[in-house]
Amino acid sequence: MSVVAEAYPALVLNADFRPLSYFPLSLWSWQDSIKAVFLERVNIVSEYDVAVHSPSLEMRLPSVISLKEYVNLDRWPAFTRFNVFLRDSFACQYCGGAFPTEDLTFDHVVPRSRGGKTTWTNVITACQDCNLSKGNRLPRECSMHPLRAPIRPTTYQLQQNGRAFPPNYLHESWRDFLYWDSELES
Ligand SMILES: [Zn+2]
Repeated sequence: MSVVAEAYPALVLNADFRPLSYFPLSLWSWQDSIKAVFLERVNIVSEYDVAVHSPSLEMRLPSVISLKEYVNLDRWPAFTRFNVFLRDSFACQYCGGAFPTEDLTFDHVVPRSRGGKTTWTNVITACQDCNLSKGNRLPRECSMHPLRAPIRPTTYQLQQNGRAFPPNYLHESWRDFLYWDSELES
């Protein structure tokens, strides 16, 4: 097997030819993709120009594969830090600023010290400055109200948000299956 193949992930589509996930983009290593091909769990939709060889076999690496059986995505995504950022499009919900993930934190709209819970509807993305200046106050006490009321998002809503964040690397064979918002606007 050739070493260069390490860099050839396959885009994984559901049986409806939509990506399993937009952000992070659903990608499998070439090893996992080929295993799934041999287990007949996926169809090859597109291939790289690169092949792997064994003594008895030569096989081009898949660049796009689709699952043979449709996978139902959970309707309700997990309540994680990443998913809160994704719901809020990685923007501070007080000042509206977009920051790199490492400069973002989350804020309890109703502070924990005032009985606020750590839930989808009380936690929002915030920059460090806004988080600090809000402190332990209620929104009405400091006139800092979330730009968008925090909701519990569906997986579909998170997928929609994820489409606004194309990955750094895009193989041309993936483009047909990815409709980034920036391309829709142009
Ligand atoms: Zn802010």
